[in-house]
Amino acid sequence: MTWQDDAGRDLVRSFGDRMAMFVRGEGAYLWDDAGIRYLDFLGGIAVNSLGHAHPVFVDAVARQAATLAHVSNYFATPPQLELAARLKRLAGTGDSGRVYFGNSGAEANEAAFKLARLQGGADRPRILALRDAFHGRTMGTLALTGKSWMQEPFLPMVPGVEFIDSTVEALEAAMDGRVAALFVEPIKGEAGVVELPEGYLATAREITARHGALLVVDEIQTGAGRTGEWFAFQHAGITPDAITVAKGIGGGFPIGALITFGAASDLFYPGTHGSTFGGNALGTAVAAAVLAEIERADLLTNARERGRQLREAIAGIDSDLIEGCRGQGLLIGIALRHPLAKALVAAAQQHGLIINAPNDTTIRLAPALTIGDVEVDDFVALFTAAIRSVEDALVLDGSGAASAEGEGSR
Ligand SMILES: *Cc1c(COP(=O)(O)O)cnc(C)c1O
Repeated sequence: MTWQDDAGRDLVRSFGDRMAMFVRGEGAYLWDDAGIRYLDFLGGIAVNSLGHAHPVFVDAVARQAATLAHVSNYFATPPQLELAARLKRLAGTGDSGRVYFGNSGAEANEAAFKLARLQGGADRPRILALRDAFHGRTMGTLALTGKSWMQEPFLPMVPGVEFIDSTVEALEAAMDGRVAALFVEPIKGEAGVVELPEGYLATAREITARHGALLVVDEIQTGAGRTGEWFAFQHAGITPDAITVAKGIGGGFPIGALITFGAASDLFYPGTHGSTFGGNALGTAVAAAVLAEIERADLLTNARERGRQLREAIAGIDSDLIEGCRGQGLLIGIALRHPLAKALVAAAQQHGLIINAPNDTTIRLAPALTIGDVEVDDFVALFTAAIRSVEDALVLDGSGAASAEGEGSR
């Protein structure tokens, strides 16, 4: 029996075949069950901000587990209060901000969805979200996710959500006094690391405020320093009504949060929302330690500089396949001229590099924020080798049109 047999028999079929089995990690590197080392430039999809087995993460888990893991939300704990205060400070909410804790990105967005329902109640039945943005897989967050192929098997959706293009014109045209909220993903990660048009967030802030609608920014993939600011909305210099965070704030521990600003902080009242695990002492202690380490080691600066270094290196790779880079900081989308992203991911894995293809023409990189020169150089060497393999395969089978199938299909 192989692990592939076990996985194929025992795990839910909603994911494709697992591409490898990893048994250990350290920093930006992973080891599989055969002892082969890989450079991890996916970072668990922007989750492992400190890399694998970082001493700060390990210590926080061990110490809090040995102190107090969970007491329920009938009670407060010191790590919970510390993390709430830290998130408010990093997001810049001022005193009036509030934090709701859940266990995932989807739960953070579910809370934001309920917040939107409380904004104006029956007088504001409309919620706007951006076409092709991703907000999660639960029924509420799927209703917010503008991808019909994801929604189709699960219709009917939770009502009230309308999808618009990511342009100021589309927002102006759709907005009225019956809109409760606009949901925005500041860089559409799952859609292929696609940025919003220049100035979109600032104008969206102005338009939503004018109509009394909430501006909710989904920072689940972009938050925790990944783009070179704590949160991507901060590049635009705006104040949203709410942001949602998860992925990178826990560094591998499952935790999510909704952070509200100003008057939006008064919308939830006792009895309107809750979670058993959300905000427990263990999860909040780990996230507080991860964020403290990102701050102490100035990993925002590292994200900016390593991001720039990677972009320059990628631009320097001599290949017709690479069109250019999108994204900010250490959330990078490499645009390909041919639909070979899956083949490139498979070739990279053969060379000992873990990357990801959110679609057929994009490679996504979201490595640990801790990477340095060694990891950058290593990436460039392995990625170049993977590109050469894909190019060679094309030449061999003479298919200049380029449509090779990747091994690890979804
Ligand atoms: C990953 C992600 C989610 C969903 O988070 P889960 O933890 O998988 O539920 C929501 N929004 C964005 C932008 C994401 O990247």
